[in-house]
Formats: sequence, C-alpha cells, structure tokens
Amino acid sequence: MLLSDHLPADIPTGTGAALFDVLDPATEATIARVRDTGWDEWVAALDRAVAAQEAWSAFSPRQRSEVLRDIFAELTRRIEDFARTMTLEMGKPLAEARGEVAYGAEYFRWFAEEAVRLPGRAGSSPSGAGDILVTRTPVGPVLAITPWNFPLAMATRKIAPALAAGCPVLVKPAAETPLTMLLAGKVIAEVCERHGAPRELVQILPATDAAGLSSTLMADPRLRKVTFTGSTGVGKLLVRQAADNLLRTSMELGGNAPFVVHEDADLDLVLTCAIQAKMRNGGEACIAANRFIVHEAIAGEFTRRLTEAMSAVTMGHGLDEGVTLGPVITAGQRDRIASLVDDARASGATVLCGGTVPESAGYFYPATVLADVPAGARILREEIFGPVATVTTFATLDEAIALANDTEFGLAAYGFSENVHVCRRFAAELHAGMVGINRGAISDAAAPFGGIKHSGFGREGGTEGIEEYLDVRYVAL
Ligand code: NAD
Repeated sequence: MLLSDHLPADIPTGTGAALFDVLDPATEATIARVRDTGWDEWVAALDRAVAAQEAWSAFSPRQRSEVLRDIFAELTRRIEDFARTMTLEMGKPLAEARGEVAYGAEYFRWFAEEAVRLPGRAGSSPSGAGDILVTRTPVGPVLAITPWNFPLAMATRKIAPALAAGCPVLVKPAAETPLTMLLAGKVIAEVCERHGAPRELVQILPATDAAGLSSTLMADPRLRKVTFTGSTGVGKLLVRQAADNLLRTSMELGGNAPFVVHEDADLDLVLTCAIQAKMRNGGEACIAANRFIVHEAIAGEFTRRLTEAMSAVTMGHGLDEGVTLGPVITAGQRDRIASLVDDARASGATVLCGGTVPESAGYFYPATVLADVPAGARILREEIFGPVATVTTFATLDEAIALANDTEFGLAAYGFSENVHVCRRFAAELHAGMVGINRGAISDAAAPFGGIKHSGFGREGGTEGIEEYLDVRYVAL
C-alpha cells in the first residue's frame, strides 16, 4: 500500500493483514506498507525457483545475455522512478540515488557480456591416458540477503551474475528499504516474460523475520547458495548455518577503511578524494574512509581543508535541491554514531565541526571532523557508517602502514602519494581486498569487489563475480 504520492504507482507492495511500515528517514513519516512474507511463502518461492531453473537452463548463453541486456535497458529507462523511491526510503540525495541506479544497472550490462564467456578448458592428461575437459555448471537456487545502504546495487551485483550463470535467485531486501527491490523485481519479471523466460527467476521476499527466512530456506536441501551483504556479525551466523547443508557462500561484510596520506601527496587531489571516500552515501558505505592517517608535516593543512569542506555540506531531505547529505537510516544508527563521537570526545579527541544531533524531525547526523583521536578510541576500531571523519597522524611510512592494518577488517584501503615507490608499498602492504591508489572512488562493475579477514570472502563484479555462481566440472575423456 503506497502512502506517498512521490512513489511510482506500480511498486507491488502486496496486500493482506500482515503489513509492515516503510519510513522516510528524513521525516519519520510512513511512506508505504509492505506485505510481510512468512514460512509458507518462502517454501513456495523455493518451489517456483527450482521450476524456473529448469526452464532457464533451456536458454542458451546468448539468449540469457539478451535478457540481462534488456534488464539493464529497462532499469536505466526508469532511472527517475528508482532514484526517487530510493531517496524516499533510504534518504540519500537524489543525485546520488541516480548514481546508484546507473551503477546497479551496469551489473546487468557487464554480466550480459560475461554470460557468453563462461570459462572452461581442455587439454591432454600428462600420462597420455585421455583428455581433461573442464566445464562450469550453475550452482542452483540462490538466496541473496541484502542491506539498506544501497537498496538496488547490493542486490543487482548478485542477481546479474547468478542469472548469467544459470541460477534463479530469491532476494530478501532489508526491511527498512524493500520498495526499490520490489520495483526492480517487477521490472525484471516483465523483461523475463517478454523473452519467454519464467517470471519467477528472481523473486523478492520482504520479511521482518530475517532469521526465520534464512534458517528455513537454508535448511532446505534444494537451496545451494547463500550470498550476503551486511554486517560481520550476521555474516558469521550465516556461514555457521550454511555448514549443515554445505552451501556455497559469499560474504560481503563490514569495513574500517584507512585513508593514508603521505607527505608528498597532491593535497588538492587528496581533498577531492577524501570527500568522495568519506561522504559518498553519507558515509553509509562499507568502503567509506573511516580513518584518515596523515603525515604529521601536512596534517594541519589537510585537517583545516577537510573541516572547511565538511562544514560546506548541506544537510536536508534528499529530494530537495542542493542537499548533499541526507539522514542516516534509523534513530538507532544515528544514536550509534553519536555514541562513537561522544566516546572519542570523552577520551580526548577535538571536534572541529558537527558532533551534535539536531533537534528537528528525521534521523540526521551532521558532517563531523574529529582530530587528535587517541589510539584506543572505539571510533577507530568500529565501522562508523556515518558522516564522521577521524584524523590521526604518523611520522614514518612503516608506522602509517602498521596503523592502517591495525584492524580486524580488510575491505578497502586508500593510499595517496606522488612517489611511485610509496604507491607500490601501498599496493603490496595495505591488507585489503581493494586498494585505491590516488583514487577516492573504486567501485566498478568490471572489477572484483570484496574483502579479506573479517570483511568476508567472495567477489562481486569483474570476471571473478560469475565464478561464485558456478561449480567446476571435470570430465575425463
Ligand atoms: P545487517 O547485517 O543488520 O543486515 C543486512 C541484511 O541481513 C538485512 O537484509 C537484514 O534484514 C538481514 N539480517 C539481519 N539479521 C539476520 C539474521 N539473523 N539472519 C539472516 N538475515 C539477517 O546489516 P545492515 O545494518 O543492514 O547493513 C550495514 C552493514 O552492511 C555494514 O556492516 C556494512 O559494512 C555492510 N555492507 C557491506 C558491503 C560489502 O560489500 N562488503 C556493502 C554494503 C554494506
């Protein structure tokens, strides 16, 4: 049931008695009521997914590719509908929401191109006894569980490679932001139908009982894969649950990205990249720069200019003209960010801008810069997931790299220097699945996205992304 006139009229929210509210985090108003799914629907959805896989296997790689390409075109055609929906349910400024639609749709174009290039090889056995043929087969039905911060892209980078590989997908979007995926599910089903493919290849299952849904589906031996983007705690739980049926798993989990600025870095470039890496999505990004680690000779100027840029941010409703920072997703997230800042302040950090929760309605937290953050502060250990930048300093490169790697996470890391030897050390020694060198924006559908250590395993995008949905088969000839 849609309650806001700003939402596209064709979002299939569902009807019935079991409805849950979706809020606009900028106003706290309910904008829609969505049908909650339960046990019988989860099992029925898996029944349909199994049948859809059978029908989809009759599609050649080229035919699959064409379906994916049309999904890309249709998501792109409806960019304004998706962007507005996303801004309303998640809060990000409209321009950023459009950026996410373009990025999210791109996974369909990229994997349309990969669908016809599934890897394989053939060769002779060294003994001369026969030939070795290596092929790939789809893993089978996939459960994709996604977070609220990128309501479209976190799902499309799972759905697109899964479909390209030949797998049906059940998607459980975050309960805070189900509308974007409900609309995407409808668009995908319509494209599938036009091509004579099953509408049930991708099914969207909004559910407030996330644990019930995942444990029910993962206990069913017909499900063969779980792909998750979200917090490290839930990721660990799902990996344990996946053990019982030995499910394939991909885990895109939390981050605590360092942003190291060497003495010889180009400060104009650094500042542009710092704002990109910190403020994209209001800081609610797993690859957001959490810790600015800056050479002591330039830390004063860097901090002054960063504070200037962060003070110039315009906070407000994401649909309003000129707004560059929306609300955070919930009151709970806002309070968590505030408690990290308060803890840092109490342990000696200096608040250079922001740092106070505004009194107006909506879950807002202002752009904040903290200097002199002491080594033990919680804010350096925990993922901030908000518009707060911390600055610490170093004297030697060894010290900088040690500080950068002093975290259990290993998703993204950034390094800035004009010296090629320093850049090579960043590339080799920063412990992360993704390293940006003199770059503040690193996401790319053509590159493998993913982490190491407590940031998880598996990769999304690139030529690597499709392997997550394929089993290797060796045929001895
Ligand atoms: P979350 O783990 O609370 O929720 C993510 C999803 O898991 C939601 O759909 C939620 O309903 C579901 N979920 C929650 N508890 C569950 C359970 N017990 N069993 C099954 N499903 C459950 O995370 P969040 O707060 O929504 O998202 C923020 C987190 O996601 C951050 O840690 C962020 O770093 C991470 N993230 C990682 C990436 C990446 O690619 N590595 C990308 C975006 C976000």
